[in-house]
Amino acid sequence: MKYFVNDSCIGCGLCAMACPEVFEMTDAGIAIASKKEVPTDVLDAAAQAQSGCPVNAIENDD
Ligand code: SF4
Repeated sequence: MKYFVNDSCIGCGLCAMACPEVFEMTDAGIAIASKKEVPTDVLDAAAQAQSGCPVNAIENDD
């Protein structure tokens, strides 16, 4: 499983707080997702980050 942040991101920072192993904020103030496969032990946190995004900007390849 890999995640992607689309152009809808408003830079609220929630995903990076919910799952910093996968999501981080750029200097431009938007989120990016790790290009690596999500480790098993953070799958739940990553899914919570996705569901918590207020603008549905987080997609995955599942
Ligand atoms: S939760 Fe959504 S809107 Fe907020 S920073 Fe993450 S991707 Fe962007």
